[in-house]
Amino acid sequence: MRLRYYSKKAYVPSQHWALARGVRPALLMEGVRTEVERTIARHAQPGGHREVAVERHADGSVDLVVATRRGLARRILDARRDPVRGAAESGRLLGYPACCVRAFIDGGLPGHDDLGHFRQALRRTRGAPRGLLNPLCDLAVVPFVPCRFDCPRALRLARATLAACPPDEARTIRRILGMPILLWTDLDIVFFEGRATKGRVRYRRAGVNEAAPDFNRRRLLSGPLARGNSLEVEGAQVIVRRGKKTLLDASFAPWSPLLVGWR
Ligand SMILES: [Zn+2]
Repeated sequence: MRLRYYSKKAYVPSQHWALARGVRPALLMEGVRTEVERTIARHAQPGGHREVAVERHADGSVDLVVATRRGLARRILDARRDPVRGAAESGRLLGYPACCVRAFIDGGLPGHDDLGHFRQALRRTRGAPRGLLNPLCDLAVVPFVPCRFDCPRALRLARATLAACPPDEARTIRRILGMPILLWTDLDIVFFEGRATKGRVRYRRAGVNEAAPDFNRRRLLSGPLARGNSLEVEGAQVIVRRGKKTLLDASFAPWSPLLVGWR
């Protein structure tokens, strides 16, 4: 099963639809390295952007904002120059819920430790975490870590974004965002077609994020995951089984992965 998670892809179809159908006033794409010109062109399709602003960094990456109102894209990039006040201002201009922006700022800035925010949001979640708010996948419909994974305002935005997508696309996005994930970092992610309960997932298929940087962990997990049908996590220990047969029993100490079963 092949899927890329969090690969900093410039063009995210659901975000294009959200902009084109007026759900979002502007989109921010951070740290983009490829497809910059193509992304600008794609957003320029009918109903797309009216303004593009680009900030080029010394490492060759680009921050790109496309907006539907003149002057807005530039204002967002300008606001981001101030790391604390700018996050509140740019979050508001991008149409993110105020509660989520506040939680992001309170969670520690700058540095963008997305998994730190992710863990905090998970701890704050009162009901079941909702897959529609999974921000790590390339198909994410909310491009930010919400204040909690059942935030009503973030869910409203996620549903409006999904409703702006063609129905076939929306179904695929909903299915993929709902897949349970096991993660060490925002890139070292395993995803499952199956169902997770506390500390355990039973699955039909599993895959390791192709963009995962820890090659050894990826290699160690891939074979057993492909042959297995259940995985358990106990602290740093990961156990993969097929029925009663253990295929992998490995410790990744000191790092304990998170297993997230979305609803
Ligand atoms: Zn919120």
